[in-house]
Amino acid sequence: MGKLYIIATPIGNLEDITLRALRIFKEVDLILCEDTRETRKLLARYEIKMPTLSYHQHSKLQKIEQIIELLRNGKNLALVSDAGTPGISDPGGKLVDEVLRTFGEEAEIIPIPGPTALAAAASVSGFPTDKFLFLGFPPHKKGRNKFFKKIADSEVTAIFYESTYRILKSLDELKSAVGEREIVVCRELTKMFEHFYRGKIDEVIKKLKDDDTRGEFVVVVRKNNN
Ligand code: SAM
Repeated sequence: MGKLYIIATPIGNLEDITLRALRIFKEVDLILCEDTRETRKLLARYEIKMPTLSYHQHSKLQKIEQIIELLRNGKNLALVSDAGTPGISDPGGKLVDEVLRTFGEEAEIIPIPGPTALAAAASVSGFPTDKFLFLGFPPHKKGRNKFFKKIADSEVTAIFYESTYRILKSLDELKSAVGEREIVVCRELTKMFEHFYRGKIDEVIKKLKDDDTRGEFVVVVRKNNN
């Protein structure tokens, strides 16, 4: 069977791509993308002209079967998501699971490491990150209380993702669940409007309201000191 490379791509700044990732892009037969338009921007920047195929969370079984067939026929494939490391709060894991189910021990699934927003945020938080709890996105409806309760109870730094639409709502709910706690909100990491909001939750909410809540966010919460 062919190899399946799981390739991390930039979370904003297109310079954040590894030399190995660029080499593999040129060597594989096909690049599987969450959104081919997003990935083409990256490929165009490095003048890489390789065929792409869309693969996302709503892809039909037929698409997965097509991909499995390509691997069976010895084709080498690369899987990328829109940003960061495939499988970290985005599609990717599902395909890896399917490939493992089909080929078992024969499967050659190779990670090409690189950026992920959670690691970038952890690295500048200043909070202890020898251990941390990563929770992905808060659920939209059911399970929100439980999500924030987990952070309240956490004995290690907690990290979660949030979008422009829900950041203030989530910070309000975080405050209700954890009370006074130090946080860092990282907005638009590696991008033009990169900004870090640090302080107690109320202070950060105020700074964000006074500034701008557009963009992508990672929230890092210092552990409970009790
Ligand atoms: N696979 C990605 C990774 O490795 O980080 C995460 C994909 S998830 C669908 C997208 C979320 O990641 C955004 O809503 C945001 O919370 C976070 N994120 C991604 N890029 C970011 C950036 N440049 N700045 C801040 N947060 C970012």
